[in-house]
Amino acid sequence: MLGPVILAASRSDKMRRIVSAAPVTKPVVNRFIPGETVDQVIPIVTELAGKGLEVTLDVVGEDITTPGQATAARDAYLRLIERLKPLGLGARAEMSVKLSMFGQALENGHELALANVRPVVEAAAEIGTTVTLDAEDHTTLDSMFAIHEELRKDFPQTGCVIQAYLFRTEEDARRLAANGSRVRIVKGAYKEPASVAYQDRTEIDKAYVRVLGTLMAGSGYPMIGSHDPRLIAITQELARRHGRKLDEYEFQMLYGIRSEEHVRLAAEGHRMRVYTAYGTDWYGYFMRRLAEKPANLLFFVRSMITK
Ligand code: FAD
Repeated sequence: MLGPVILAASRSDKMRRIVSAAPVTKPVVNRFIPGETVDQVIPIVTELAGKGLEVTLDVVGEDITTPGQATAARDAYLRLIERLKPLGLGARAEMSVKLSMFGQALENGHELALANVRPVVEAAAEIGTTVTLDAEDHTTLDSMFAIHEELRKDFPQTGCVIQAYLFRTEEDARRLAANGSRVRIVKGAYKEPASVAYQDRTEIDKAYVRVLGTLMAGSGYPMIGSHDPRLIAITQELARRHGRKLDEYEFQMLYGIRSEEHVRLAAEGHRMRVYTAYGTDWYGYFMRRLAEKPANLLFFVRSMITK
């Protein structure tokens, strides 16, 4: 019951001001968002790489309101790529972007987001890596998939994300699996209405397994974004069944969640990529992490009371 309430709060400016200003918020936020600047995140990338883990880096931010903010988002990613260059990690350090941060919801937003994200994808390709387009709420997805297709004409490694909770996803998965795309499959983190999305967790899990089956049987590169032990086991079984080698799919998990599992899977020879978010505009990302596990909220509230 708490999840939907927290997700509604994640879109509230008033709550954003209250939560962001509370001094006790910081240590709890740091569990999921380990830094605010590129200087703080680079040592974390190095540390994760040292453990045999790969990363996808997200400069947090979404729902911007001016074209200037979209340009600033582009520049933040370009600075990040400059800093990654000397590390020589290539595709072991990729980027995840939210198109709403690149101007997608503004006037002429589709064109604006494409124009802002393209230089990031180009710069990523120059250092041997790539970009994955995150999936936001369902109203943004037609535009996201069209931008993905457009970018893939020049940069076929560009990835995108699909969300198992949406009814549309099985069809999206069939299309993406047939055209050889890199696709991250996740359960879905936004508050979506019953007209477009499954609401029941069991239904969502079943849909995830169906979509996973489509991706693993297809010609693309599936990226399994989940911490759910049953889905990890099902992925391993499907990989065996479809004869996929260890480098023909990968697991992805969020920084700060089930970290011991990241290392365990990597030690078994799996590709494990840690989604690592950093930056100052962490509110929306943080609130979605609270919504996924209400125990996080209790921890957060307790830290506010005991300070
Ligand atoms: P759950 O059933 O939610 O969790 C399984 C277990 O994992 C839980 O029992 C718990 O032990 C642990 N766990 C899960 N979440 C948390 C948490 N927040 N705190 C502590 N423990 C937790 N969603 C989108 O809508 N768009 C995206 O682009 C997107 N990108 C993602 C990228 C990656 C790499 C990952 C891993 C997730 C992404 N998500 C995205 C979020 C996703 O949709 C889910 O909300 C999230 O992954 C939780 O679902 P789960 O599959 O881990 O399963």
